[in-house]
Amino acid sequence: MHTHSKERSAQDAWSRTQSMQREGAAAAAKRALGTAAYRDAWADAGISDADSIANNWDAIPFLKKEDLIESVRQSPPYGDRLAVPQSDIAHVFVAPGPLYMPYTAGDLDRIAASFAAALLSCGLQASDTVDQTTMYNWVIAATALDKALLQIGCGVVPGGVGQTDRHLDAIRDLGINAIVAFPTFLEHLLEVASQQGQPLPLRKAAVMGELSHPDAKARMRRDHGIEAREFYGTADVGAVAWECAEGCGMHLRDDLLVEFIDPATGLLAEPVAGSPVEIVVTDLHRQAMPIIRLRTGDLIDGLETGPCACGNPAPRFSRIIGRSSEITKVKGMFVVPRLVQDVFAAQDIQRNFCLHVRRSENQQDILALAVAGPPLKNIQVIKAGVEAALRLKIEIEFVDDLPDHGPRLVDERVIGQKT
Ligand SMILES: [Zn+2]
Repeated sequence: MHTHSKERSAQDAWSRTQSMQREGAAAAAKRALGTAAYRDAWADAGISDADSIANNWDAIPFLKKEDLIESVRQSPPYGDRLAVPQSDIAHVFVAPGPLYMPYTAGDLDRIAASFAAALLSCGLQASDTVDQTTMYNWVIAATALDKALLQIGCGVVPGGVGQTDRHLDAIRDLGINAIVAFPTFLEHLLEVASQQGQPLPLRKAAVMGELSHPDAKARMRRDHGIEAREFYGTADVGAVAWECAEGCGMHLRDDLLVEFIDPATGLLAEPVAGSPVEIVVTDLHRQAMPIIRLRTGDLIDGLETGPCACGNPAPRFSRIIGRSSEITKVKGMFVVPRLVQDVFAAQDIQRNFCLHVRRSENQQDILALAVAGPPLKNIQVIKAGVEAALRLKIEIEFVDDLPDHGPRLVDERVIGQKT
């Protein structure tokens, strides 16, 4: 086929997929209307039944992580978003906030299937023995990824987070050839192994979930003989996009509605180079807690729609370039500025503040709280209160001035890594 006709057929295939996504999303939104939280949130926008959903999809308000957390505060434990009988819940995951995330057995199977598709595309196969290094308790990550690896037929070593030496021993003793990891943890393992002068049998890595240096993958291939491919997903909907063997971006998943918005205006926007857009996802299938138009906070700055040699017609993006919203993750914990405000209010402090997330030379994440005005007398009380609320250590610094409506969270890890 000529390039042009190839291009056209890929685009045709993807637009057929998109119409199916829109139908699925409309059905999911109709199920969401069965919950008080969605019904109330959508009432003002005039979204109240299947017709208004079908005719006016773009009017459906976006859902922010902060909204989910706020609704749980007001109406625990599920913030009036539970859409199935309690008895249908198979797993409840607990994220800081707190945020309780219920899943039926079918929900979890589908999330696992999305990760299985991602991991297969990242090169994992049934004959691989895999060290699964994401967290097994409370959060969904390892439960879903472990299940996905079993679906593929891999041999799984449920290593979980931390304990570098144990991971290194197990990888060497068991001849583990593949790993699922955050890029920074994988790089750490490789560095320690190099220092010990004992290379690892690892040959494949599926990496995700963290801002990684754009050169990291090339470095791993060159220095360690590891083929690393990347996938991107969220706890709420599972895998969203993943690399193929061509290594030219992450293809969007086909059974998920993905929209893009300008993070500043909240209006739908095309992903083009130089102006970052935020990824918004709608789960087509989730039963226990519908997820409709969730703002992920994750930004991309371009979408490649031309054909890929792998044959997958789904458009692809190169990497997550940063976070848009007033919420980010440090050491796996959500940083919610609202919690700082609560501590200030309890101490009767009215000062502008801004949280800064930085990455030190030795790749440690540092959370600094800048407070406008002269040093406070009860700084130790404030520090302890904020640390307890965020479940993270902070540094406090006083600055002359901060704007009244300026950002309350700046993720400097993102700015520093933009290329
Ligand atoms: Zn491809």
